[in-house]
Amino acid sequence: MAEETAVPGRTASGSPLAPAWLGVPANLNALESKLWAHDVDRGPGGELTVGGLGVGELAERFGTPLFVLSEDDFRARARAFKDAFDAAFADVCGGVDVYYAGKAFLCSAVAAWAADEGLRLDTCSGGELAVAAKAGLPGESLGLHGNNKSDAEIERALDLGVGRIVVDSLDELERVAAIAAARADADPERREVRAKVMLRLTPGVHAHTHEFIATAHEDQKFGLSMAPGTASAEFQAEVAEESGPEAAVVASAAEEAVAAAAGHDSIELLGLHCHIGSQIFEPEGFEVAAVKLLTFLAAMRSAYDVALPELDLGGGHGIAYTPADTPRPAAEIAEVLAAVVRSTCAELKITPPRISIEPGRAIVGSTTFTLYRAGTVKDVVVDLPGVDGPGHGEEAAGTTATPTAVRRYLSVDGGMSDNARPVLYDADYSAVLANRASSAAAQLTRVVGKHCESGDIVVRDVYLPADAGRGDLIAVPGTGAYCWALSSNYNYLGRPGVVAVRHGSARWIVRGETEQDLLSRDMGV
Ligand SMILES: *Cc1c(COP(=O)(O)O)cnc(C)c1O
Repeated sequence: MAEETAVPGRTASGSPLAPAWLGVPANLNALESKLWAHDVDRGPGGELTVGGLGVGELAERFGTPLFVLSEDDFRARARAFKDAFDAAFADVCGGVDVYYAGKAFLCSAVAAWAADEGLRLDTCSGGELAVAAKAGLPGESLGLHGNNKSDAEIERALDLGVGRIVVDSLDELERVAAIAAARADADPERREVRAKVMLRLTPGVHAHTHEFIATAHEDQKFGLSMAPGTASAEFQAEVAEESGPEAAVVASAAEEAVAAAAGHDSIELLGLHCHIGSQIFEPEGFEVAAVKLLTFLAAMRSAYDVALPELDLGGGHGIAYTPADTPRPAAEIAEVLAAVVRSTCAELKITPPRISIEPGRAIVGSTTFTLYRAGTVKDVVVDLPGVDGPGHGEEAAGTTATPTAVRRYLSVDGGMSDNARPVLYDADYSAVLANRASSAAAQLTRVVGKHCESGDIVVRDVYLPADAGRGDLIAVPGTGAYCWALSSNYNYLGRPGVVAVRHGSARWIVRGETEQDLLSRDMGV
């Protein structure tokens, strides 16, 4: 990255339209390593390569837009997470179960790689369970999430023998218990098989990037509230009878669920779960949530005589999308969390539960870049924001002209149909010219898609070589998570496929859609 900014909104030598955080790179051909898979490099002529394969050949063979995923990088990141957390928690609970959150990007190949590297798999629908089954993963290695699981999804999970159903509400707890009981009644061989359940709780902690907020009540659809007074009137009356009115008024929905689960023969209550946010860089939010959950877990163990052997601290670990992003390494987060679990359990005088986590983005996000073909380039004159009046403007024909600057729009052959995150979340990305090196000057550029929508932005602000244009290849790193998964057929664009590269060879793991696919559900006139 280049010089610090002098004036807000301006880089020292960059465009006045650039955001403050975006410096002018000293070398436009250099790759910021934290944004890319470890085996992405520049080859002869400056062509971008992955696992030794040039992007020109990939574009030729597979077409564009294309998701290009490094299998070695996926495996390395999966292993690194598992190793880092296992090492940090070895003396606390003998290691950590790492569930890859499949919703970030799932197909049978990545499910199988995750399993190879010692990870389990989180799913949140019958469809995701079907992918896991197609990959041949053992049921015990699967978790099922969701705030509105259908009876059919619960049945399917039980058929597969999933390791855990993460229950999201009291209503769902009763449905899981009833379905499991009915199955046991119908089939004597299932009599001993109980449904393994975790309870998803909302600890009132919400984290994103550099901040976390803590509140008593969470205004969201997920989970069971830990806040005092959130239990049903019915449960409060029960508690009042058992333990007096003081205990009754503070009883929470979470406590009610523990009590209910403990009362069902068809349920094996494994423990508690929380998930506090996404794209989290700092460990503090995880620490606050861990202390809350452990304190509650200790109270429930003694109040209801339940073992609660497991605690899941969720996912949300962040990655770098632009040079300005600085997530902490997994090992650092792991050590901070291990320290807080160790000391809190010692204080509470409890045996530490087995810890699990659910990273999605942090495993797959940086493994993948999207390869686009550039098309139309348009330079648009725009008014400079927040700069006007005498002293800044130029005098022209007796009037004070508003200062202007040129913004370059470079269009690519995909857009919001293959990356909805800029539209949905205002997400920032980065990009490079991929088919060649260039010694042209840096040009602030907005990379946009080809959809009929002015918000169809792929990369809001990036410096690209001024000679990048039609026919060039543009690569956008960090598109492994929540891009293919959220892709659509808007404007009847076929969704791009995903190519996995390993040891110098490339193969489809999900093929791209053809025009025939696009028309296959149209029932005709
Ligand atoms: C989305 C989600 C995850 C994964 O989140 P990332 O930000 O991709 O790590 C994990 N657990 C639950 C319950 C989720 O909903």
